[in-house]
Parts: sequence; structure tokens; C-alpha cells
Amino acid sequence: MNAYKVNPQAKFRLKEIKADKSSGDKEKVKAKLLELNRELEELQEQLYAEHRHKVLVVLQAMDTGGKDGVIRHVFEGVNPQGVRVASFKSPTPLELDHDYLWRIHQAAPGKGEMVIFNRSHYEDVLVVAVHNLVSQKVWSKRYAQINDFERMLAEEGTTIVKFFLHIDAEEQKKRLQERLTNKSKQWKFNPADLEERKLWDEYMKAYEAVLQRTSTSWAPWYVVPANKKWYRNWVIASVLVKTL
Ligand code: AMP
Ligand code: MG
Repeated sequence: MNAYKVNPQAKFRLKEIKADKSSGDKEKVKAKLLELNRELEELQEQLYAEHRHKVLVVLQAMDTGGKDGVIRHVFEGVNPQGVRVASFKSPTPLELDHDYLWRIHQAAPGKGEMVIFNRSHYEDVLVVAVHNLVSQKVWSKRYAQINDFERMLAEEGTTIVKFFLHIDAEEQKKRLQERLTNKSKQWKFNPADLEERKLWDEYMKAYEAVLQRTSTSWAPWYVVPANKKWYRNWVIASVLVKTL
């Protein structure tokens, strides 16, 4: 798993990690995931029972990257009592009146709790940087602020793991088309995703900066090859079981 952990000391290149990478036989890996699901379930129950540690899982990805799929397949079986998903959309006017960590901090896990961030404060150095929603002078200071914020959470008893679900542009095209043609997936199709897709290279640059600058010993990033959903799920479940 350490192969996918971003080393803060080394120069990081997103291109060096293949989005379609996998290893092992698909059916065997899927069976292994079921075992990991059970282990995760047991460990989460202990976390809840002990009421001491806090766990924060951050999920970031391009559109169609698989955040929803990870939440469904990796956390399948965990007790909803003690696990919470916090999804961060475009900030409301009230949220925009506050600093960008205001809404984030409120959603952070309490003792015994595991919280999954479906998008996160990282949007404030991703979409915000790509679209210049605030000036560069303002957003460029945020990497250090985020590291400090996460360090505080960690020192106060939160274990943090962050996953970037890495798909390539070809795979995204396939998945967007699937959303258009498959009736059960149409609800997920958002025409705005096509506009964002045009900014793919800008997003990759923004992600590269994020991964390079905010992978820390107290809150590491994992770049997960995510073209193959079964491999993606297995990598994340393995890291989580190890972390717990
Ligand atoms: P979805 O995850 O598909 O429901 O989309 C949520 C949308 O909210 C995405 O387009 C994000 O880029 C956007 N979003 C999330 N956080 C922020 C933020 N801090 N500033 C601007 N847009 C955001
Ligand atoms: Mg979307």
C-alpha cells in the first residue's frame, strides 16, 4: 500500500502513477474485498465502543472518479451508528461569509466516530484555484493553513487518511457517456461536468500541487489507481483496515 502513499520528501509526479493499474485476479480481489469489509466492520465497532479515537477519511476525485462507489462498496456493512458521510458542495452564502474551514471543522469526527468526507476543504485549493474564485494570493496560502489545521486535528486525537481516486481522461469520457445512456445512471449526469472536463489539465496541475504540498506524516495522501473499480475498492479497504 505504501507504493501509493505520497512521500512528502520526494518530487511528486501524477503522470508516474497509472490510473488503469491493477494487480491480481479480479474475482479473487473481489472476494478479498468482502473479507476486508468484515474486518472493517469489526474494527469500526471497536472504535465506536472504545469512544476514544476519531477517524477522518477524505475522498477527492475528478467528476465520475468513484467517490460514491467507494462509499457504497468499501463501507458496506459498517454500522451506520458511528459512521457519517459529510458531502461538501458549492458553499452557501452563509458558508461563503466565513473562512473556508468553518464548515469543515463542524463536520469533523468526534470520539468513536468515523467520518468520510465526500469532497472536502481541498476543493478550496482545487476548483477554487482552477476558476480563480478567490485570488491566487489568498488560495496559495491555504496549503500551509490546511496542513496546520490537519495537524491540530491529529494532535487532538484524529487519525486522518486521504485518498485521491485517480482516473484518466479517457475513463472519465467513458463514464460520462455511461451516465447519458444508462437510465439508472442518468440522474448523476450534470451538464456542468462537461465544462469542467475541458479544464482537465488545469485540474491535474492543481491536484499535483495539492498532493505534493499537503501529504504529511500526520495526514498522508494516497493516490489510488481508480480506472478499475474492483482494484480501487481493494486498495482503499486495505489502507483503512491497516490504519484502524
Ligand atoms: P457533486 O460532488 O457532483 O455533487 O458536486 C459538488 C460540486 O460542488 C462540485 O462541482 C464541486 O467542485 C463543488 N464544490 C465543492 N466545494 C466547493 C468549494 N469550496 N468551492 C466551490 N465549489 C465547491
Ligand atoms: Mg458530480
